[in-house]
Amino acid sequence: MEYISCKSALSKSRLPGLNYTFNPYVGCKHGCIYCYVPDVLKLNMDWGREVYIKRNVLNILRREVLYKKPGIVGISTSTDPYQSIEKDLEITRRAIMILNSAGFRISIQTKSPLVLRDLDLMNERFDVGFTITSFNEDFRKKFEPNAPSIDERISALEEISSRGIKTWIFYGPVISGFNDSEDDIKNIVLLASKTKSKIIYDKLNIKPKVIKRMQGINIKEVNFKKLINLCKEHSVKYEPAFRGEPYEH
Ligand code: SF4
Repeated sequence: MEYISCKSALSKSRLPGLNYTFNPYVGCKHGCIYCYVPDVLKLNMDWGREVYIKRNVLNILRREVLYKKPGIVGISTSTDPYQSIEKDLEITRRAIMILNSAGFRISIQTKSPLVLRDLDLMNERFDVGFTITSFNEDFRKKFEPNAPSIDERISALEEISSRGIKTWIFYGPVISGFNDSEDDIKNIVLLASKTKSKIIYDKLNIKPKVIKRMQGINIKEVNFKKLINLCKEHSVKYEPAFRGEPYEH
């Protein structure tokens, strides 16, 4: 773990439904091999092994909330805000407290059950998204080698939903032949129905570093018709992911 300094805390976002993004860390230990953050942000780091901690990000955030117009903040878009080190550092937790008391709304996206720690801070101005790419642990081990297990994510999603917090599922990237079987789709839709979550789906973002990490994996075009039909059948809301900014973990 290394510390770095940053110049700003809240960045303007072009993602739908988000006014700002907040990323407390650079890098992500989950090490998903499909992650296109290093390509988009042009990061030359050992992806999945290194994480840099923004040492001054909370001080800057405290200043920024005084003059920036309150809006919806995505936490986070180019890292998972619940890295294992977050358990000790509590940067994400303290950022949520700062944003909350300044009247900002918060949209969390994570793969980690550590988010449950911050349930006590959540209210009707929050939504929480879990990336659930498959119900198959073999898929998780191959594509998201260091990320929390699928079962942990499902339990955390169910817990948060049961507390009345708005939830959503990020089903992406969908990689044809690996996580788009009828069972995969059915499991995701039924979970969304049970937890009243919207599904945001995405295909693989093919970028140079992604291709390098996914060597040997045959990438084919994916079709979302079955997903959409099943969502309609179960009255589950769905939408395709916005493309152009990191938004996949
Ligand atoms: S996809 Fe998300 S969780 Fe996976 S390595 Fe990238 S930032 Fe981390």
